[in-house]
Amino acid sequence: MTLKPHTSAMKRSSILIIYTGGTIGMKTDEATGALVPFDFSGIYEEFPSLKRLKVDIEAISITPAIDSSNVSVENWAVMARLIHDNYAKYDGFVILHGTDTMSYSASALSFMLENLAKPVIFTGSQIPIGILRTDGRENLITAIEIAGSHTEDGAPLVPEVALYFQNRLFRGNRTTKLSAEALNAFASFNYAPLADVGVNIQYNNAAIAPYAPDFSDEFRISEAMSDDIVVVKLFPGIRPSTLRAMLLDSGARGVVLETYGAGNAPTSEWFVELVKEAISRGVIVVNVSQCKDGAVQMHLYETGLALQEAGVVSGHDMTIEAAVTKLMYVLGKNLPLSETINLMRRPLRGEFTL
Ligand code: ASP
Repeated sequence: MTLKPHTSAMKRSSILIIYTGGTIGMKTDEATGALVPFDFSGIYEEFPSLKRLKVDIEAISITPAIDSSNVSVENWAVMARLIHDNYAKYDGFVILHGTDTMSYSASALSFMLENLAKPVIFTGSQIPIGILRTDGRENLITAIEIAGSHTEDGAPLVPEVALYFQNRLFRGNRTTKLSAEALNAFASFNYAPLADVGVNIQYNNAAIAPYAPDFSDEFRISEAMSDDIVVVKLFPGIRPSTLRAMLLDSGARGVVLETYGAGNAPTSEWFVELVKEAISRGVIVVNVSQCKDGAVQMHLYETGLALQEAGVVSGHDMTIEAAVTKLMYVLGKNLPLSETINLMRRPLRGEFTL
C-alpha cells in the first residue's frame, strides 16, 4: 500500500494535546525567572507558526501535572480514558510526557488502546519549552504535524502509538530512554524508525502498523493493569534467598527475568529449580535480555535451553518497558493461565519480532 502525505488542498485535521507533565511543559516566569508550568491552551499565542499547519489544536492538561517518575497505572488509565472519550472528535492525539518513563507509558498505552486506528504520538523534551535553546518546540510541532497527517482519502499515516523525539518517530513500545543528557534521548534498537524527519518527513510505510488490526473492530480500552509482577535482573553472585524472595515469596503472578546475552542464565541446580517451582505454581516467567540490541534465543546455549525446558516464555527482542507493561496488561485481563501465556507468546502490537 502506498500512502501519500496530505497536500494543502486536503481537509484539516483536529488534534487533541494531552499534557501530563514533565520538562516540556515548563517556561520561565518573566517576573521571577523561575520555571513555571506552560499553559498549552495558549499554544497558538506562543507558537503562531502552528496556524500554518492544516491542523486545529485543542489542549487539555492532566491535573496535577506529574513528573513522569511518579507515573502510575492510574495515570495510564486516565490517559486511556481521555483518548476513549475524545476518540470520535479528533483525528489524532499528542501526549506530552516527561521523558523519564515515556517509553513505559507509550508501551502501556499501546496495549491498553485496543483496535486503535488513529495516531497517538508521545513526545516531550530535555530542555523546557520556555528556554530559548529548547528541543521541545520542534518535538511538539512535528508531533502535531505527524498526528494530523493523512492520505488523500483521509486515512491517518500513523495509526498507532508512537514516540517522536529529535527527528525520529518510533513505535512507542520499541523505545527506551537512552540518555539523560543528549537531546537525542530515545532509541529503538530492534525496530526501524517509523519516520525520519529532515527537510521532509519521510514515512517508513513498511514499518508502520504491519500488525494491521482489523479497523472494523470497535476501538475500546482495557484499563485494568495488574501490578502483581516483579522484574528480576540477574547478576553474577545473586543469592538463592534473593531469587526465592522475588520469584516465590513476593506472590507475584508474573516475572520479567532479565537474562544475559541471547537469553542465558545460570545452569546451577538451585537456580533452575526455583524457576521451575515458580512456573509450577502458575507464575508466568518472561525472558528478556539485558542487551538492548538483539533477541532472546533460548535454544542457542545450554544456559538458555534450561529455561526453555522449564517453561519460561521468550520475550524475543522486547524492551524491558514493553515486557513489563505487556505482562501488566495481559494479567489484568484475568484470563485462564493458558490463554494468558498464549497472549504473551505472540506479538499483540508489533512489540517484538518473531
Ligand atoms: N523528570 C522529568 C520527567 O520525566 C524529566 C523530563 O521530562 O525530561 O518528568
